[in-house]
Amino acid sequence: MKINTAEFIISNSDVSKCPNEPLPEYAFIGRSNVGKSSLINMLTGRNSLAKTSGKPGKTQLINHFKINGNWYLVDLPGYGYARVSKSTKETFQKFITDYFERREQLVCAFVLIDIRLEAQKIDLEFITYLGESGVPFCIIFTKTDKISRGKVDQHVAAYRKQLLANNWEEMPQYFVTSSTEGTGREKVLEFIDGVNDGIFKNQGFI
Ligand code: GDP
Repeated sequence: MKINTAEFIISNSDVSKCPNEPLPEYAFIGRSNVGKSSLINMLTGRNSLAKTSGKPGKTQLINHFKINGNWYLVDLPGYGYARVSKSTKETFQKFITDYFERREQLVCAFVLIDIRLEAQKIDLEFITYLGESGVPFCIIFTKTDKISRGKVDQHVAAYRKQLLANNWEEMPQYFVTSSTEGTGREKVLEFIDGVNDGIFKNQGFI
């Protein structure tokens, strides 16, 4: 997919105020500092569409970007900086869970995982939450330039093992990316293009 236009539309913390258009949308979420802003900028080919920042937890809003006039890329707040929490609902702020539970336009979430780290409890909790809520999702491994190709495969295999141990029947669709090297860009955009094609052919989308 060629990205012809990428425009910022609106930021808010209320799902009912998200754009009221029947366009498919793809949400990007992960722990703070996972490389989400860099990935969004890499995918869209825009250097500063999403704000990259050394300061964790800075972007605390739902940000809608309209791509090519016919789909939305949604940048969600990074999680993982909440203090001790009693439940998943409290760990993931209510407006985020509202977004996943109520946003009809959402067709796929991309959960970003830093390839270098062992599976983190909060990511596994979040993936379980998506599964239980029936939200389709893919995994995007980030920062893969930071380790060798062989290690990338090993870490993906370890992640798969961890998910299977957490009662997943199979590894969800995943992408291996590096924002500094542009790795995975074509594959992620092709995936979105394919899903969009299916949706645009089907008059019944929301
Ligand atoms: P966010 O908080 O998830 O939006 O993360 P950022 O995109 O702001 O990235 C956090 C830090 O990781 C920054 O210092 C980035 O330069 C760095 N970073 C992000 N993606 C990559 C990547 O693919 N490769 C490398 N080497 N560094 C990255």
